[in-house]
Amino acid sequence: MKITSSLLELIGNTPLLDISAAVPEGGAKLYTKLEHLNPGGSIKDRPALAMIKAAEEAGLLRPGMTIVEATAGNTGIGLALVGNLRGYRTVFFVPDRMSHEKIVMMRLYGAEVHLIDRVDGMTGCIRQVKAYAEEHGNCFIPLQFENPANPAQAEDILGPEIYEQLGAYPDGIAIGAGTGGTFTGVARWLKKGNANARCWLVQPVGSVFCGEPRTEYLIEGIGNSFIPDTLDLNLADRILDIPDQQSFYRCKQMAKATGLLIGGSSGANADAAIKLCMELGKGKTVVTVFPDAIERYASKEWVKNLVKGEQTHGIFN
Ligand code: PMP
Repeated sequence: MKITSSLLELIGNTPLLDISAAVPEGGAKLYTKLEHLNPGGSIKDRPALAMIKAAEEAGLLRPGMTIVEATAGNTGIGLALVGNLRGYRTVFFVPDRMSHEKIVMMRLYGAEVHLIDRVDGMTGCIRQVKAYAEEHGNCFIPLQFENPANPAQAEDILGPEIYEQLGAYPDGIAIGAGTGGTFTGVARWLKKGNANARCWLVQPVGSVFCGEPRTEYLIEGIGNSFIPDTLDLNLADRILDIPDQQSFYRCKQMAKATGLLIGGSSGANADAAIKLCMELGKGKTVVTVFPDAIERYASKEWVKNLVKGEQTHGIFN
């Protein structure tokens, strides 16, 4: 018997699931980290805890202070969870296109959530965060898009977890980027251990990591209107643009093939990872991450459409 004394102990160490059943004949083996099993329900519990710990150690975050951050929601949920347990108030600025469920979760933790017009995007949220901190004082801004503790935790913790579970370095990864912390950290870790490994960066069509003009997309958590400092594009052997509908199709396929009800960014990761499996072929291994589950998007039209079965099928390629 083992008693867990704090929920924070349960952040990370997620299972690595073999989802090769979803890969067509002739492809590499495919494994995914089940990040929805973190206590806050997403991969962003990891950097939230890491950024808070680093700030405490550096003396930048002290009891009684307020944590203010720009977030698509999952980082906010992680920061609110950790912040509550460590005695910090939390205030978040979130683009208003993000799901109702994530906003409700942040508010349930007692966080103050400000919704910012989607036209102003994440850069607008970052501007508001800085203005709030200046006006109120006694604030700490983790600034996940610049904070080196964000990619560092993926390099130091998430990567080594994969090695321990797989017993080897994979031949490739396909991972979506919002801040790019997960991709950058895992790619850095992997290239050190296996210099020939293929690192594919995943973004929704419309995100700017390839430099094209920005357009709207429905997926939450990946893609951006600017290139964050926490994203090292030099580590990307290829950048894959995944259309929303292709990601959503994968959400449905994964439910059938693996039993997992994954979120939209996980669908994009699955799509890219399966393509990488087909490129690398039999005998190779590919690892991806599923950052969260679909239930935190249940109110979104695309999920309702999946339920209605209105999505286009037969786009498997
Ligand atoms: N998927 C989801 C659902 C997310 O919330 C995030 C975080 N923005 C990501 C993927 C991407 O993670 P990262 O910030 O490490 O690039």
